[in-house]
Amino acid sequence: MRKKIVAGNWKMNKTPKEAAEFCKLMKEKVVSDAVEVVFCVPFVDLYPVLEELKGTGIGVGAENMHFAESGAYTGEVSVQMLKEMGVGYVILGHSERRQYFGETDEMVNQKVKKALETGIVPILCCGETLEQREAGITIEWVRIQIKCALAGVSAEDAKKVVVAYEPIWAIGTGKTATSAQAQEVCHAIRTVLAELYGRETAEEIRIQYGGSVNSKNAAELFAMEDIDGGLVGGASLKEEFVSIVHY
Ligand code: 13P
Repeated sequence: MRKKIVAGNWKMNKTPKEAAEFCKLMKEKVVSDAVEVVFCVPFVDLYPVLEELKGTGIGVGAENMHFAESGAYTGEVSVQMLKEMGVGYVILGHSERRQYFGETDEMVNQKVKKALETGIVPILCCGETLEQREAGITIEWVRIQIKCALAGVSAEDAKKVVVAYEPIWAIGTGKTATSAQAQEVCHAIRTVLAELYGRETAEEIRIQYGGSVNSKNAAELFAMEDIDGGLVGGASLKEEFVSIVHY
């Protein structure tokens, strides 16, 4: 049985002070036995968030990292830095990183491998644009993204990955995919995972849906067979996140 995982992606929101205040307010309300809860936050918020959430069982994640061990990469953060702080998760290949910061499938693949090697759970994002959906190539596109991102990753490691299916047209637009649309693609993702690693492994890998998840649509989305929780943007910045976790 896959444990549901609901992660907030704060994106570029909340200063360290705001982050600490928000976590203080939220921590008791979002604790759950049934659901794994994670706050993915900007780098500078990691320290106050980790401090505030210590001992609560709520996971803390970064929103990106570099794939190199260390070196001359001005402005970047390594996986070892995250690990030492106590960060347990990292969002990789978010469409905003691919779109605005030129992240390629190859870079995402290197990051996924590095995170796994270090013992940090990658939340691996994939998803199509509106043009791709209208052209009928959604599934083909997402299959390619998954295959590229997981190239060279063993079945044992693949089990630790969380995949997040986020249709780009549904991100921040208020236009959620219908539960049937989301299920269709999440099922296709599980199929490609089964082709790569076998059915048994694929059944263990958690697949989230992301894109305008809110307190009203979470229950229906998370009830779908291949949807194991959500990656939540805007609604994770508010008290509303509580009712998504306890959907
Ligand atoms: P919204 O929930 O704001 O649409 O953002 C989704 C997202 O990109 C999470 O990673």
